Amino acid sequence: MASAAGTRAKLTWKGVDSMRIGWIGTGVMGAAMAQHLMTAGHQLVVYNRTKAKTDGLVANGATWAADPQAVAQQSDVVFTMVGFPKDVEEVYFGEHGIFKGLAEGKTVIDMTTSQPKLAAKIAAYAEEHGRHALDAPVSGGDIGAKNATLTIMVGGDDATYAAMLPLLNVLGHKVNHFGAAGTGQHAKMANQIMIAGTMTGLTEMLLYTKAAGLDPEKVLATLSSGGADNWSMDNYVPRILKDDYTPGFFARHFLKDLRIALSEADSMGLDLVATAQAKRLYEVMVDVKGLGDQGTQGLINIY
Ligand code: NAP
Repeated sequence: MASAAGTRAKLTWKGVDSMRIGWIGTGVMGAAMAQHLMTAGHQLVVYNRTKAKTDGLVANGATWAADPQAVAQQSDVVFTMVGFPKDVEEVYFGEHGIFKGLAEGKTVIDMTTSQPKLAAKIAAYAEEHGRHALDAPVSGGDIGAKNATLTIMVGGDDATYAAMLPLLNVLGHKVNHFGAAGTGQHAKMANQIMIAGTMTGLTEMLLYTKAAGLDPEKVLATLSSGGADNWSMDNYVPRILKDDYTPGFFARHFLKDLRIALSEADSMGLDLVATAQAKRLYEVMVDVKGLGDQGTQGLINIY
């Protein structure tokens, strides 16, 4: 993680030591991420639909604002980390949305996992009105948010990326820029297509392990040091073995991601059959069994 001093030294505009950061969406991911920026020495203005989820940040020195417009009016940079594309639409373009309050020359960074085309729409609107925008979805889970070890995938113009990189470095240990607006979201979709395989793989690996009468802890320890090792297995199998299905990463959010990825793939003429099967399994979990508020590791509960 970049130090606060390192962060400031790289920034190029005046008043950087007391940058005013707005943060909208203080759930599992956002609360921890916003806290890192405050710890790094920035002033924080926060808003979340459920106000109580900002209490910890406010107790630590953040200021509450009544809506996204009010956040934007008080900020140099506004970060958003909400749930679904419809939430992103609302916080940017709603009646009291960010674009009603953001001053000229200021920047927005959407870190929600959302649609590439919505990222492009936000960036086009920002550019047209003399504002700046990045899409910067993340990977690394609740643990990555807490430890500031997220992987951050960025889309947007070069100058805005360069200006915002020091702030992004506070939140993650790997920040990569992929190109124009929307490309960060495309990179995240590539990530989610990969995760579809690791989640279905770890689930069926565990079912098989138990059916074969093997010790799952021993199998996990063995697989972790071999060719089957992966982040999902290392982080989620121990939770499943403790019957812990708390999120982590909400299954309803993962289903949203798989739907975005498959819709984008379809528009590129791709038929991703394994990802489509993973989506069907998560539809059973979320839409049929009503388990969308469990973490993604709860997939095992549909078998
Ligand atoms: P979360 O706990 O549901 O947090 C989202 C927060 O945004 C909630 O507190 C929610 O308010 C707030 N919100 C939603 N719509 C809003 C609106 N219109 N106005 C104001 N606040 C609004 O979800 P999360 O796990 O932090 O995930 C956030 C995003 O990151 C999702 O897109 C997810 O797919 C992505 N992501 C998550 C993970 C992970 O491991 N958790 C990893 C990578 C990416 P309420 O409290 O009222 O619901």
